[in-house]
Amino acid sequence: MESGNVLSFKSLTSKVGRFNLKGKTVLVPEMNRIGSHLIAATFRGFGVNAKVMETCRGLDLGKEYTSGKECYPCQITMGDILYFTEKEKEKSGDSFNPEDYVYFMPEADGPCRFGMYNKFQRIVMDSIPGLDKLKIGSITTKDGYSLSGLIDSKKVGDLKKVAYFSVVIGDILDRLLWRIRPYEKEPGTADDFIEKSMQSMEDAFEQCGTEKDFDKIIDMMEGIIEQAGHIMDPEIPRKPLIGIVGEIYLRTHVHANQDTIRMLEKYGGEVVNASITEWVNYISYDRLRESKIDLGLNWKLFRLGAMKASLKKVLGFKGELFYQEFVQKKVYKRVKSILDLAEDHKVEELENILEEEDLFSFDVGTEACLSIPGILEYVRGGYNGVVNIYPFTCMPSTITSAIVKPLMNKLRVPYLDLPYDSSFQPGREGAIRTFMYQAYQHFKHNGRKGMPG
Ligand code: SF4
Repeated sequence: MESGNVLSFKSLTSKVGRFNLKGKTVLVPEMNRIGSHLIAATFRGFGVNAKVMETCRGLDLGKEYTSGKECYPCQITMGDILYFTEKEKEKSGDSFNPEDYVYFMPEADGPCRFGMYNKFQRIVMDSIPGLDKLKIGSITTKDGYSLSGLIDSKKVGDLKKVAYFSVVIGDILDRLLWRIRPYEKEPGTADDFIEKSMQSMEDAFEQCGTEKDFDKIIDMMEGIIEQAGHIMDPEIPRKPLIGIVGEIYLRTHVHANQDTIRMLEKYGGEVVNASITEWVNYISYDRLRESKIDLGLNWKLFRLGAMKASLKKVLGFKGELFYQEFVQKKVYKRVKSILDLAEDHKVEELENILEEEDLFSFDVGTEACLSIPGILEYVRGGYNGVVNIYPFTCMPSTITSAIVKPLMNKLRVPYLDLPYDSSFQPGREGAIRTFMYQAYQHFKHNGRKGMPG
């Protein structure tokens, strides 16, 4: 609603979308800590002043402006932007100008509520004096997260490449933490080390990201991994391996999921979480898949103009996906020669698994497309248990749970659903502990990949 004109919904399009970021401060919500900081550093490298907002400090504000029926990530991010602007106003006084900022909130099309967060948040911000002038910058899965229009058109292609690369590096730093922390000699060293490593990577992306000197950053990453090896105690035997799937925000946001990974580690596990890169690759894959379907349809109807447009899209998304998978493979190949970090699967392989097992279809879409075959890949890879983390009532994760639970019973692999909202469930730790006991039994009888039991 436009301020002063409650009947108009024009602001949902005029103040939500892709805007030129020149001269603005871009406010990035913190989802997974490392990834958000590296994305912000990438933007800064391209001359855009981007900063990551503190997260969960404004949860009470988020709750005040929501009804409780929204998905939990919507409440948290609502609170993050309201808290940030409140603090910024206190700091800057009269010189605070909401027009100097763009709040970054991407969206997804498809059958769930993520596409509505920024619209809902627009309505809330329009109801708060001054915040109606703060624009919401949004990129969308509809066009495979195109960044055109945000910065000078000549640099958009490079920004997209570096941003993707930063996502891969962010995943590797996360995976490194989960690989070393269960085996650290001194408690706390792994967390400190990864925090410092994240800061060096932020500097690297800010200073040399535009040069696209990826080899230089991979060299740095190799150095970090070599040092990380010294944090681990070689005397500690390998532990049961637990795989995580679920809704991307909840499973990667440490506060929101009440630090589930640390709790799984506390009860004896080593954990691998599904990556952020997998989601980005899925978006490109899905757009390619859709364009191919369109092309087939246009061919059947012999619509020449539409055929040409679909073919262009097919080639564009095919090239994008090929590039992304090539870069990802190259980075993992180098880091894995130093330490055995978990690698991602190609999205195409995940779709093949769903087809082979006849469990679900990519036609339905959503993260269930990744979570269901991801779980089966964990099982085939010899993992000792799987956890599904998601916001309470999340549709794709509830579908995943319904399909996978009976399957896991049949396969005799421990499985746990962990839905979260802002409440603290007294039984949650007990459930995680029991799950870890089962995972340990599985480990004792079956070992884990590449290791005897
Ligand atoms: S994926 Fe789940 S949490 Fe996210 S918008 Fe959809 S239903 Fe909500």
